[in-house]
Amino acid sequence: MSAQIIDGKAIAEQIRIRVTQEAKALGITPGLAVVIVGENPASQVYVRNKVKQTEEAGFISFEHRLPEDTPEAELLKIVEQLNDNSEVHGILVQLPLPDHIDPDLVIRTIDPAKDVDGFHPINAGKLAVGQDSLMPCTPQGSIILAKSVHPDLTGLNAVVLGRSNIVGKPVAQLLIQESATVTIAHSKTRDLDEVCARADLLIAAVGRAELVKKHWIKPGATVIDVGINRVSAEAGKTRLVGDVAFEEAKEVAGAITPVPGGVGPMTIACLLANTLKAACWAAGKPAPRF
Ligand code: NDP
Repeated sequence: MSAQIIDGKAIAEQIRIRVTQEAKALGITPGLAVVIVGENPASQVYVRNKVKQTEEAGFISFEHRLPEDTPEAELLKIVEQLNDNSEVHGILVQLPLPDHIDPDLVIRTIDPAKDVDGFHPINAGKLAVGQDSLMPCTPQGSIILAKSVHPDLTGLNAVVLGRSNIVGKPVAQLLIQESATVTIAHSKTRDLDEVCARADLLIAAVGRAELVKKHWIKPGATVIDVGINRVSAEAGKTRLVGDVAFEEAKEVAGAITPVPGGVGPMTIACLLANTLKAACWAAGKPAPRF
């Protein structure tokens, strides 16, 4: 049996279409500011895609490209100016930042009401206590993909592989809200393969190329692969793979996301949904749910 391949690209496109339509219907023009420091090639690609899709959604895009040696104080000043700009509803500072800049300080400087990445401690806290907040985009996208297979996650055994603040922990919080039974595994977890093999829903976010093998997967399980790893390919080229050994995993899983084309496209779609949410809240209107 070969698994259902979950088409993140198509699902993300549906969300982007809905975001565009809802913004129009509400008479709101959301503004998203993206700040990038330095020349990290992967970050450059992400930012280009974010700006392009922001404009395609009919949002206003504000772009700040700063040199690698930008002083921390200068970046903080730009963030504060964006906080004060009423046309800007969402602020995203692309990570990673150069070593001389403290990412936690930058994140804490963003107005929590404009923190469309959902990384500010206020938004992380709201998520933890189950209050409506701006939630991190990749976790949101992962849950939407899981729910495309299981509209109701109640009672499922869910294993989250990875406990980062950006992916693992918020994914686990969202799964708790969905009434799944959640196990969080990490680099210190014993018998990792056996823990994963108990999962009805396995969400892998470790950043280790093809770590998850076929025998780690319960037959019929749903596998959401968040990992993006660049590995060597033929003729000196490189290619992207996930944290799951896709070719062998799809022989046993019930449904699985590919890399690329799974969780990746969902992240930007959820970023646009968060920006619309922030814009609605700024206008005192209820925000559509995705
Ligand atoms: P981090 O490096 O911050 O966290 C990795 C987590 O995986 C840690 O909790 C770590 O455990 C755990 N881990 C690492 N190695 C192992 C191992 N061998 N066995 C078990 N657990 C392990 O990564 P992120 O959470 O930021 O990202 C994870 C992956 O998701 C990356 O590939 C990243 O590129 C991708 N990503 C994709 C996005 C998208 O848009 N699709 C967005 C964000 C991330 P411990 O805590 O014990 O060290």
